Amino acid sequence: MSRVLVLNCGSSSVKYRLFDGAETSAKGLIERIGEEGGDATDHRAALQHIMESVDLAGLAAVGHRVVHGGPRFSDPTLIDDDVVADVEALVPLAPLHNPAALSGIAVARKLLPDVPQVAVFDTAFHATIPPEGVTWAIDKSLAERWQIRRYGFHGTSHAYVSRQTAKVLAKPVEETNVITLHLGNGASACAVEGGRSVATSMGLSPQGGLVMGTRSGDIDPTVVFHLHRVAGLPLDEIETSLTRHAGLVGLTGDNDLRAVLERRQAGDPEATLAFDVYCRRIREYVGAYLAVLGRVDAITFTAGVGENSPVVRAATLAGLESLGIAVDPERNRRAERIISPDGMPIAVCVVPTDEELEIADQSRAALQP
Ligand code: AMP
Repeated sequence: MSRVLVLNCGSSSVKYRLFDGAETSAKGLIERIGEEGGDATDHRAALQHIMESVDLAGLAAVGHRVVHGGPRFSDPTLIDDDVVADVEALVPLAPLHNPAALSGIAVARKLLPDVPQVAVFDTAFHATIPPEGVTWAIDKSLAERWQIRRYGFHGTSHAYVSRQTAKVLAKPVEETNVITLHLGNGASACAVEGGRSVATSMGLSPQGGLVMGTRSGDIDPTVVFHLHRVAGLPLDEIETSLTRHAGLVGLTGDNDLRAVLERRQAGDPEATLAFDVYCRRIREYVGAYLAVLGRVDAITFTAGVGENSPVVRAATLAGLESLGIAVDPERNRRAERIISPDGMPIAVCVVPTDEELEIADQSRAALQP
C-alpha cells in the first residue's frame, strides 16, 4: 500500500497527515507560522520540521489541498510548472486561500523533488453542477471576463460523505441521491445526484450560503453598497467584517457553536436568535435541494457541528414528517449512522467526514496513467 503525505496549508498553519494505505502513520499541526513564539518561522521551516520528525521513506506522492481550482481544474492534478502558474493566476479569485497552498507546493517541490506532487481542489467535485446551477443572472460580459460564477467548496468532504452515505444505505452510489450538510467552522450544503454534485451553497468564494462561525453566508449584495455608501466603511473593512466578524461571532460574540448552545440553554436571547438563524438557513437549503433532486434517499450531517450536535440536527429537520423526514431522538442522541426511524422514505444520517483520507485517495488516483 503506497504512502502519501497530505498537506493542508493555511496562511499561518500547516496540517499534515501521512497515510500508509488507509492507515494514518503520522499526523500533526504546525501553528502560528511566522508569529512570535509560533511553531515555525515560515512554510519552508514548517515543512522541514515535518520531514525531520516523520519518516518519509518510500513516499509515493504528496497531496496538497488547494481551495480554489477556478474553471480549469475539475480533477486531482499532477503538479508541474504549468499547473503552478495556473493556480497562481487564480489568486485574485481566492486571495485569502490559494497563496498558502502555493507556498506549500513550492517548498514541497524543492524539498522532495523526486516525489510526485498532486493538487486536490476543494472546487473540483462541483464541476458537474449544470450551467443553470452555477450561473448568476448578472451582466454576462462581466461574468465571463472576470470568471464570476458559482464554484462551490468543501468538495472533497461532500464527495467522501456522499459515497459513505451510499455505503450506509447499502445502495450503489450511482443510484443514490443525497443532501450533504458539511457543518464545521465553514459550512456548506450540497445536492449529490448519483455521486455527482448538482448544487451547492458556496459561490465564488467560501463566503456564500449557510451561516458559519465567522462568515455571514448569503446576504443581499446591497448590504455591501449600503455599508460603503451610507456607513462610509472602506471595502477592505467590509470584507473583514463579513468574513471574520459575521456569522455566529457577529450575532453573539462567540464563533464556537458549543458556547452559543450553552448560552441558549441558559436562556440568552442573542444566542437563541443566532441558533434559530443558523438552523433556519440550513433548513432553507434542505428544502431547495429536495426540489432540485426530486427524489432524495438521505440527508447527511457531517463535520464538527454536523457530527456532534444532536440539537442542531433535530432543530434543522423538525416538523418535516409530511416530506418523509424525521429524526429519532434516541438514535440522534447516540449519533448512530442512521438517526431517522425505520421505514421513513428519506434516511437521516450522521457520517464523519475525512477530507485528508479523500485527498490521499485522490492523489493516488491521479498517479494512475
Ligand atoms: P470543524 O471545522 O469541522 O472542525 O468544526 C469545528 C466546529 O464544530 C467548532 O467551531 C464547533 O463550533 C463545532 N463543534 C464541535 N463539537 C461540537 C459539539 N459537541 N456541539 C456543537 N458544536 C460542536
